[in-house]
Amino acid sequence: MNLRAPKGTRDVLPEEAAMRRKLESIFADICGRYGFGEIRTPTFEHTEVFVRGVGGSSDIVRKEMYTFLDKGDRSITLRPEGTAAVVRAFVEQGMASWPSPVKLWYNMNMFRYERMQKGRYREHNQIGCEIFGSESPMADAELIGLLDTFFRELGIKETELHINSIGCPICRVDYEKALRDYFRPYLDEMCDDCTERFEKNPLRMLDCKVIKCQEIAVEAPAPLDALCDDCRDHFDAVTSYLEALDIPYCVNLRLVRGLDYYTRTVFEFVSPNVGTQGSICGGGRYDGLIAELGGADIPGVGFALGIERLLLELEAQGVLPDTDNPPSLYIASFESTAAEALKLAQTLIRQGFSVATDVIGKSLRAQMKAADKLGVTYIVVLGDFELEQGIVNVRRLSDGEEQSCALTELGDFLESAVGAD
Ligand SMILES: [Zn+2]
Ligand SMILES: [Zn+2]
Repeated sequence: MNLRAPKGTRDVLPEEAAMRRKLESIFADICGRYGFGEIRTPTFEHTEVFVRGVGGSSDIVRKEMYTFLDKGDRSITLRPEGTAAVVRAFVEQGMASWPSPVKLWYNMNMFRYERMQKGRYREHNQIGCEIFGSESPMADAELIGLLDTFFRELGIKETELHINSIGCPICRVDYEKALRDYFRPYLDEMCDDCTERFEKNPLRMLDCKVIKCQEIAVEAPAPLDALCDDCRDHFDAVTSYLEALDIPYCVNLRLVRGLDYYTRTVFEFVSPNVGTQGSICGGGRYDGLIAELGGADIPGVGFALGIERLLLELEAQGVLPDTDNPPSLYIASFESTAAEALKLAQTLIRQGFSVATDVIGKSLRAQMKAADKLGVTYIVVLGDFELEQGIVNVRRLSDGEEQSCALTELGDFLESAVGAD
């Protein structure tokens, strides 16, 4: 038998898992400081959560979903993105009656059946935030500010914030008409996806990845020039709040984002380092989505960020989190003292220290080697004599310096030497 993880999935091993845990905990901590509560939604949802009437044209919906019939003949889809699932929960759980705005963050796995590229997996993790119940540009600015705080705390430097507004359903009608008028003469030269987008969602023709399509789109009318007065004011306010928060941005007239529930603000943090698309994080406003999923007419704004791509970015910028955290102490023992060694280790671990001991029955020599490999700070050898005397020699591995210490005082010694973990 030759069993392998399915294509597009991967095992996360301890070294990477520790890095993920660290950056996830930094994110959770920052979200807490900004007043966001965590939400966890089911791994799968009814397909309608992700495929909705007019919303059925986005690229994800069209071809990348893991959709299947369950044994009760229901159409089920593995969550391809967080926002629609969180909005479904918002509506179902009656969060509209909670004090407004409702601010939620998540860290969940997502599933997309997509072509393999660097940093893209069929199962991947995304962290994200949503703010429900504020139409104000202050909410957009706070979210972007939260991301900026996160990137600062991670030590990321080279990212650039791209921002744009794609308007509301009112100004969108005229704008889409103008776009179709512009693209119509070129349709024969454009890719199949664009031909399809032309009717359903011409905005997406602006960010096609095909070079020929990009060349044609350069001269297309920009969403910003077609905004109604309300949308224009909203966008100007978002950028002025960003200036107040000291967050540099660049207005990107071609930025429209892949999901077609977006309205008004769309943004991305773009890096020169990552894979094919350069975006490590994206988000925007979705003022119509909650009503579309059966809720009240409540505005929303959010973002999502892929952990795998973020790790690539941290690596490219040389700022992967330091997760090397070896035990402070190794307790070596003999057959006759093994039980006491285990007990001593347990006592110290329960006091908050990181302590290793042998659980194989290795020779003393092999235990010394193991301690060295682990990179422990101190080592003690617990023999019959030491047990009888109640005193051990604590040796510092870095320079071989030894000092004796009562067994009962090992905790105090570690506390002053390395501090509790
Ligand atoms: Zn508008
Ligand atoms: Zn195209």
